[in-house]
Amino acid sequence: MSNIRHSSAWLIRAGSVNALHLTARGKSVKFIPMKKAVEIYKLLPKTNCGRCGTASCFGFAAKLATRQVTADECPLMTDDAREALREEDGGRHDSPGTVYEQALQSLKPKVAALDFARVAQSSGAILRRPDCLELTFLNEPHTVTRDCILDSAGREPLPFLSILIYNHLCMPDPPAPSGEWITFSSVPASHAKDKAWAGHVEEVIAKHFAGNVDGLRKACEKFGGRLADIKGSHDAAYEFRFFPRYPVLLLFYDAVQDENFPAQVKLLLDRNVDRYLDIESIVVLGEEFAGRLTG
Ligand code: SF4
Repeated sequence: MSNIRHSSAWLIRAGSVNALHLTARGKSVKFIPMKKAVEIYKLLPKTNCGRCGTASCFGFAAKLATRQVTADECPLMTDDAREALREEDGGRHDSPGTVYEQALQSLKPKVAALDFARVAQSSGAILRRPDCLELTFLNEPHTVTRDCILDSAGREPLPFLSILIYNHLCMPDPPAPSGEWITFSSVPASHAKDKAWAGHVEEVIAKHFAGNVDGLRKACEKFGGRLADIKGSHDAAYEFRFFPRYPVLLLFYDAVQDENFPAQVKLLLDRNVDRYLDIESIVVLGEEFAGRLTG
C-alpha cells in the first residue's frame, strides 16, 4: 500500500481500497471507486438512453458510486437491480474515511513526483508551464496539473476520468506505439476481463450500430476517428487516440440477416497498451469510449 509503484492502479487491481481523495483548489475531491462503478454498471440496463440525464449507463454508474445521483433517477432499472444495489450499499462495512485516507497517501506522492516535462515527452502532451500539461483525452483537450484536471469547458471531469488520466501519466517509461494491433485477449493479464471487454465495449457498439454502417461512420468521425486503410472483410475501420500515444482500431462487421450473422466489433489495441494503463483501467476506458460513441 505504501509502495508508490502501486498507487491508483493498485487500488483498482487490488479492489481493497474503494476510493481516494485528492485536494484540489482547496477542496476535497472525491475520486470514484472504480471497481464499484463497474459492479453497478453490470446491474444497469446498458441502453445508454440518457433519460437519467447522463449520456451513458457507465457514466451514471460512476455518479451512483460516488452518490452524486440516486438509483431512482434511472427509470429503466429493474426492481431486482434496485434491490441488489440496496443490499450492496447496506453491506459495506469499511470506513470510507479510512480507505480514502490510505488511498490519498499512496497516490498523492506519485502525482506530486511527476516530472511534467518528461511526462509531456512520453505521453505526447503539450507542456504549457513547468507544472501544467495540455493532454488530449478521448478527443477533448484537458488541462492537467498536480492538483486537478480540467476539461475544455474548465470543469473537472467525473472523478473516474481524472483517475484514468493520472493513471496513464503515472505509467513508468511508456514506449511509443508499436504499430502492431492486438486483440484485448492478447493483452497480458486480460483473461479475467475478457467478458467485460466483449460485453461492455465491443457488443455495446456492435448492437447499437447493427444495420447502420453510415451511423457508425458519422459517430466515429464526430468523435475524431480517422478512416483506417486496413484490408479485411470489415464494413468500416476507424483509428482513434484515447490519449495522444494510445491508439485503438475499431473494426465493424455489420449484421448479415440472411446468414443470421450478428453485427460485430473488434476494438484492437496497440501491442504496448499495457505500458499505457493497467488492465482494469483499459477496460473502464473502453467502456467509457463505447458509451460516448453510442450516446
Ligand atoms: S442509467 Fe441512464 S442511460 Fe442507462 S438505462 Fe438508465 S436512464 Fe438510460
